Amino acid sequence: MKSAFLFIPVTLFLSLPLTAQETKYPEQEPMKPAMTEYWQPQPTVVTPSKSPEKAIVAPSDALILFDGKDLSQWSNSKGEPAAWTVSDGVFTVKKGTGDIQTRSIFNDFQLHIEWRIPEGITGKSQARGNSGLFLQGMYEIQILDCYENETYVNGQTGSVYKQTPPLVNAMHKPGEWNSYDIIYTAPTFKKDGTYRTPPRVTLLQNGILLQNNTIILGTTEYIGQPKVKEHGAGPIRLQDHGDPSAPISFRNIWIREL
Ligand code: MG
Repeated sequence: MKSAFLFIPVTLFLSLPLTAQETKYPEQEPMKPAMTEYWQPQPTVVTPSKSPEKAIVAPSDALILFDGKDLSQWSNSKGEPAAWTVSDGVFTVKKGTGDIQTRSIFNDFQLHIEWRIPEGITGKSQARGNSGLFLQGMYEIQILDCYENETYVNGQTGSVYKQTPPLVNAMHKPGEWNSYDIIYTAPTFKKDGTYRTPPRVTLLQNGILLQNNTIILGTTEYIGQPKVKEHGAGPIRLQDHGDPSAPISFRNIWIREL
């Protein structure tokens, strides 16, 4: 009897502060995609110089990631051969086969890539030629047909997806080649896994500045806020978005490690 008597008040004492703490804060409201999308102001449209018919030749010290012949430098996320289609010196997203990524991994780099939205594309907003380029496999630079196609500005072509819109809209129209030139600085991390220095990106589309040493806040989530996850060197990853419009092609991809 004596031990039971003692047990009850001790249990009460321990449980009271816990209960108070549990009810102190309301439960987090679940995030919806639209909560991190905004539509205004729309970046000014700038007409770039004529789309070059021929690919720009890579500099002598670049690692060639695609030279028009094969996808030997690329794999799917499991390390198996990339299943996208190679034809006429370009490769094209093969819907449903998943993202592809470089077999090599990188830290700081300068990257050149050319991409083309097919002529006669249909669909609107994000369902119109959606792909994406992930820096270190983590941070998406959006690829989308934003030629006379408005969407939320932090999800348009050249945005750091769901974070920072591009300075301007510098699209070539469907059927013409666009180029991205990207300068990327990888993050460094503190012992606790947060950024000591955040990742940064500079991006030119068709020779026009879209991102000027922009700080990347964390992962580029479709739903919710960016997350900071510790990581090391990573691949260049291209997105098989699976939107219903016609697939995007790529050519002339090279990288210079910095
Ligand atoms: Mg995308």
